[in-house]
Amino acid sequence: MKMDPETIQPLLKALAEATDSISADVLAVGGGMPLVSWGSATTAGVSGSALTEMREAIRGITARVVQHGDDGVVETDQTVGHQLLATGLSYHDFHGAVCLVRGLDRPWRANDRTLLAMAGALCAAVMEAGEVPGQYGRLDALVTYVASELMGVSTTDRAETTHRVLGELGRYFGADTCVLRHNDPEKRASILIDEWPRREHIPDPDPLGEVPWDTDDPIFAMIKDLREPFILRPGDGQHDYQERVEAGSGVPEVSMATVPLIEGDVTRGVLGLIHFGDRIWTRAEVRALRAIASLFVQLDGRVTAEESLHHQAYHDELTGLWNRRAFVEHLSTVLTNDPQAPLAVLFADMDRLKTVNDVLGHAIGDSFIRQVAQRLRESVRPHDVVARLAGDEFVIVLHGIGSVAAAERAARRILDRVAEPLEVGGHSISRSASIGLVVSGDIASTADELLSNADVALLEAKDRGGDSVVTFNDELRSKLLNRADLELRLRTAISDNQMRLYFQPEFDLRDGRLTAVEALVRWQHPERGLLAAESFVSVVEEINLAAELGRWVLEEACRQLSVWKSTSSVPPPVVRVNISAGELISADFVGFVATLLSRYGLAPAELGIEITEGTVMRELDDVQATLNGLRGLGVTLAIDDFGTGYSSLAQLKQLPVDILKIDRSFVSALAESSGDRAIVAAIVRLAEAFNLTTVAEGVEDPAAVTTLLDLGCYRAQGFFMSKPLPAQVVLEQARNPGVPLRMA
Ligand code: C2E
Ligand code: CA
Ligand code: CA
Repeated sequence: MKMDPETIQPLLKALAEATDSISADVLAVGGGMPLVSWGSATTAGVSGSALTEMREAIRGITARVVQHGDDGVVETDQTVGHQLLATGLSYHDFHGAVCLVRGLDRPWRANDRTLLAMAGALCAAVMEAGEVPGQYGRLDALVTYVASELMGVSTTDRAETTHRVLGELGRYFGADTCVLRHNDPEKRASILIDEWPRREHIPDPDPLGEVPWDTDDPIFAMIKDLREPFILRPGDGQHDYQERVEAGSGVPEVSMATVPLIEGDVTRGVLGLIHFGDRIWTRAEVRALRAIASLFVQLDGRVTAEESLHHQAYHDELTGLWNRRAFVEHLSTVLTNDPQAPLAVLFADMDRLKTVNDVLGHAIGDSFIRQVAQRLRESVRPHDVVARLAGDEFVIVLHGIGSVAAAERAARRILDRVAEPLEVGGHSISRSASIGLVVSGDIASTADELLSNADVALLEAKDRGGDSVVTFNDELRSKLLNRADLELRLRTAISDNQMRLYFQPEFDLRDGRLTAVEALVRWQHPERGLLAAESFVSVVEEINLAAELGRWVLEEACRQLSVWKSTSSVPPPVVRVNISAGELISADFVGFVATLLSRYGLAPAELGIEITEGTVMRELDDVQATLNGLRGLGVTLAIDDFGTGYSSLAQLKQLPVDILKIDRSFVSALAESSGDRAIVAAIVRLAEAFNLTTVAEGVEDPAAVTTLLDLGCYRAQGFFMSKPLPAQVVLEQARNPGVPLRMA
């Protein structure tokens, strides 16, 4: 039995690489060591004893596949952390297998099985071809060459590789033309995929280009369902075909070998070699061509699978539009080719689509989205791009638009089109949308930059109440820069000791007595100076620093209180600390508070906790348990921003709170607004009914003080009495406020 490692090995190498295997071996049934191998389990780190076990498993699987006696059977097995895949390999009286070994990190795919089955068939072809020295060189080397070329092909280099292989076949067999044809069931025709060499003068229409199946040409009629290789030589009586070839190529007499591309029961096409004049085709040559034809079939299957994967990876399933990835890649390519390409990126989002989904259900919501997608597509030119990013977010690239005015006009037109009523599932729905846009051109930008700038403009459009177009501009840019800078520096602000606590006093308006101080966090920004909480707490929450900052604030407030206690003869005011939703429901918040109280020697009643009304109502169940725990400790609880969260009386009754802090939006214009007065009056009555104390926030003028006293709200804080102040000065100043508070 002749088995030339030099020709089989490159085949095994290509196979192992294409299937990601650590080794590929040809083994004889019953034999010990592999006859030919590529790669090895030893180099892949398999130990000696495991190797023995693996060899045993390989022998087992070899015997099993051979038992089937059927070409192309593939079996799998597992051993010592590896998986095996084997196929039978029979030739004359040789019985064996080709076996792959791979780690367990991912399962074998259909592709691996086809590749292996094909490699088995190829090895047999190579063994036969190797015995018969070819007329023009070694056939086995040719098959191996084609296999290694085609196994690695991808969608992008497929055409090029196919042409190169056809050329190699043509030269090898001394053929004048080499053709690859596919059957197209839709067109019911045989299509010329490629030819070598390419004809210089192709008649139009090309009689060889697209030949209908129901042609009167007997050869073309036959190759449609060809199952076995077909050889044609001059004098075989196929005049019609010879004439057709003559019409297409100008050559009167040809000798041709045609092998079918067979996939299961279906003939997918043919591979044909044509020699001008006469030529004999040997059995070995035809067998080699068959093996090569099966390589082409395998290649088609794989590329088709890749293409459909590619389609899925780049398209949105619901609308068929491009997805984010396709969009970003497209935009990046355009900008790489021409960084100053005039184009506009539009980020569009439906206004209040959530209500469509909530009220009419997701099926109608989906169908609505599909129709919106279609309208977007229809309202731009064919070469513009529309993609769906997620939910009801779409992006559009308008090519060739360089001016903001033109882009805004286009955006407005798109919004108007989208807002027209749509019929969905028997409902007429109309929804406005908003668009944020950015025009490229003057400053070079990346696709991601353009997209995120358009997104920032979209947020601004939403802030304006929807149904509007906003263009990204310098003002938005500086907002964005500020934010990015904040984010970056905030991460290290606590460890760099840049956080401060300021304290805002709260007074009893009747006698000017200091009742409490509210701890408010400040950030000593290295460049921008002292920043109020308002300018960074929302960022803190977005980047998940709320818990860390919250712990720092609480501990710092406790520490400060203990300092005041030990340095002052009069009792210090209650210190109130703001607690965010995230902190409040974090693990063992109550335990943390208890630890701090004992660490700093504080009485629980000296500490107050403020939670906004929104927080309490959003997470009522979780919050309730924590609040009960805090109440158990004896800490004072206040509901902050009261009046903005719409809590019901019943809910309020369940909560163990002591204080309602009336939101400053009702207080700042209290004297002038009868509506605000009515609200504050109602809150005060409510509080009395539940035995709660009210504290007014945001008192900015003496008129508010008078009104509050008239309404029965006796405690307050606000800029009129005192701004938040550093710990060192706040108590001193608060006890001498310098503003007249009316005595009761
Ligand atoms: P808040 O709890 O309602 O705090 C009161 C805010 O109103 C403070 O702003 C204070 O400076 C401001 N203020 C006080 N009196 C007046 C007034 O008369 N007129 C006006 N217009 N404003 C007044 P600040 O410090 O910027 O805090 C804003 C918000 O940030 C706070 O609202 C609170 O919700 C949150 N916050 C502040 N510090 C912390 C903290 O340490 N932890 C947590 N979780 N949140 C905090
Ligand atoms: Ca507060
Ligand atoms: Ca407040």
